[in-house]
Amino acid sequence: MRNTISRRSILKSGVIAGVLIPAGFRFNSALADVPALDPADPVAKALQYTTKSAKPDQTCANCIQYTQRSGATGSCNIFAGKTVASGGWCLSWVNKPAG
Ligand code: SF4
Repeated sequence: MRNTISRRSILKSGVIAGVLIPAGFRFNSALADVPALDPADPVAKALQYTTKSAKPDQTCANCIQYTQRSGATGSCNIFAGKTVASGGWCLSWVNKPAG
């Protein structure tokens, strides 16, 4: 079995990294333009969303639905098109497994 890194695989990795890293930066900077979820929004209200969790060990930041972070806010799979507070919480909170 050949155990060498080919020039082709190095170039391929660089191209993939070059595409993914700037895309991630664009997403995070784009997140700054996404409006914050209003706790008075009907769905947010139904799920008892709050920007400040009453449970210190349960916040959006450690919820499995929290996908991207930009400063103190991030995106949530439940509330597409809005940002949620990293210190927030709602009834859909599910612990994000470590790792
Ligand atoms: S599901 Fe609820 S607790 Fe989890 S990130 Fe979204 S708003 Fe926060």
